[in-house]
Amino acid sequence: MNLISTFDELNQRHFDGFLERPVLRWNARLRTSSGRFFPGSRARGLPATIEVASYLLEENEADIHVRETIAHEMIHYWLWVRRRPYGHTEEFYDKMQLMGARRYNPVPRKRPYKYLYQCSHCETIFKARRRLGPLACAKCCRSFSGGRYDERFKLFLAYDLVKQPEARRLIEEEPQ
Ligand SMILES: [Zn+2]
Ligand SMILES: [Zn+2]
Repeated sequence: MNLISTFDELNQRHFDGFLERPVLRWNARLRTSSGRFFPGSRARGLPATIEVASYLLEENEADIHVRETIAHEMIHYWLWVRRRPYGHTEEFYDKMQLMGARRYNPVPRKRPYKYLYQCSHCETIFKARRRLGPLACAKCCRSFSGGRYDERFKLFLAYDLVKQPEARRLIEEEPQ
């Protein structure tokens, strides 16, 4: 997937070639959305930036997701260039409809849970995507120690889902 050629193509097709190329780059850490738009600085002559989350490349139909993400961020850019409010305004959605783009950014990445912690008292299971520091079960602390942290209700690491993938069934009802 080439960000620049996709941008150029969408620019011709939907913006009459009106948009100058912004900085276009992949972002390997972006997880909460599939793309981001940063306005430039007119005063300092800095170009705007469009970032695309590289995790999209691992999804099925990656090229469609990348394309739609660029299209989405280009609408923010197009509004900004024209000095319009450039959030998800009515104008944004009107343009989006004209372009036949989807309403929402596709597939924000949810990293899988890796660890299951358990309350040593009530045995409630807590899912975690990373290892947790010392934490206690909020429910037990509320019920038995006036909401204060209490060692007795410390969470312990019950399962490492990487080493014990079968334990995933304990949380299976929740889509990852
Ligand atoms: Zn947006
Ligand atoms: Zn508990």
